[in-house]
Amino acid sequence: MNNSPKDQPVPLHNRWHPDVPAVKVVDPGAVFRIECLDWTGGQIKNDNSANDVRDVDLTQVHYLSGPVAVRGAEPGDLLVVDILDIGALQASPWGFTGIFDRKNGGGFLTDHFPNAGKAIWEFEGIYAQSRHIPNVRFAGIIHSGLIGTAPSRKLLDEWTKREKALVRTDPKRVPPLATLPEKKGALAGMATGAKAEKIMKEGARTVPGRENGGNCDIKNLTRGSRGYFPVFVKGGNLSMGDIHFSQGDGEISFCGGIEMAGWIDIKVNLIKGGMKKYGVTTNPIFETSPLEPNYSKYLTFEGISVDEKGKQHYLDPYVSYKRACLNAIEYLKKFGYTGEQAYMILSTAPVEGRISGIVDIPNSVTTVYVPTEIFDFDLTPNSKGPVKKNRKQIALCTK
Ligand code: ZN
Repeated sequence: MNNSPKDQPVPLHNRWHPDVPAVKVVDPGAVFRIECLDWTGGQIKNDNSANDVRDVDLTQVHYLSGPVAVRGAEPGDLLVVDILDIGALQASPWGFTGIFDRKNGGGFLTDHFPNAGKAIWEFEGIYAQSRHIPNVRFAGIIHSGLIGTAPSRKLLDEWTKREKALVRTDPKRVPPLATLPEKKGALAGMATGAKAEKIMKEGARTVPGRENGGNCDIKNLTRGSRGYFPVFVKGGNLSMGDIHFSQGDGEISFCGGIEMAGWIDIKVNLIKGGMKKYGVTTNPIFETSPLEPNYSKYLTFEGISVDEKGKQHYLDPYVSYKRACLNAIEYLKKFGYTGEQAYMILSTAPVEGRISGIVDIPNSVTTVYVPTEIFDFDLTPNSKGPVKKNRKQIALCTK
């Protein structure tokens, strides 16, 4: 935990590649614990400056633990992964949320919040609260933002080809359209010599979710849930990391969950030939957990696919979700939160995001459900008007 990512007792990796060697081989039915660094490998500190978020080295992300191979797993099988439990390391009961600088990562609302910002969250058992965002406290829905199996050589080549083609459509864009293989900052796990070099050079970046699962940031993949992952290589080779104490649907500020180091208890099993049997050939499926925060009252904000400049888009949920989030942020500002604080609340609290309508041309309607019970004041509209207070600010870089 205190060692640098390069100097861990079990070597870490931060790229997807079929040749990353398994750190351990287990039998179907095995139960084991995996410890994970936070996704940046400790680059972000528990303090009141956002300079570390502004200057974060994104070639290093995400630090992953594993891969763990399952004896007998072959391409075409489904790897059954029970997330038995997840927790914070005892020495590290805190997490962070970042708004990335537009020139270094950006985020969903980077046009509105271009400067780096940071909030620190303290954990009290299942609850999180932040000295940077007062009057809000919620039960976490702790999950691994990133979990997946290793790609086959063929799949890796497809990823590289299609993502390169996308970047070529606008190669100078800031932030870029996709993160392509990048040797700088790469770690190849237990591989050494020429094999490590190859992994570092060719390995897919871990930023997007893909066919193997990966960085899907599904908040409901919490303790007690079960995933079914396609197996593309012998052993399956399961890796994971990027633990979030909590996250709203969409993880909108990009470094947007409550990012933390921690441990995950896992049980693995196999369904032989399961990919074909269940038609789960391109992406994982999962079962939800019986344990999730039990909020029942939500204030819901709508967005339509008309952008901030008034331009009509055709059924575009990306545009409408942005508008729904901006509507929620404007509302929260009436109670004294800054835009940055509101952005982070939407990004971290157990906020539900839904595609409500996707057929009524030309507007898709998406909705953002904010649980009102997480605030220690009444968030609903009434005839007296909002109680506006100074609610401080997150750590923010002004340039
Ligand atoms: Zn994360």
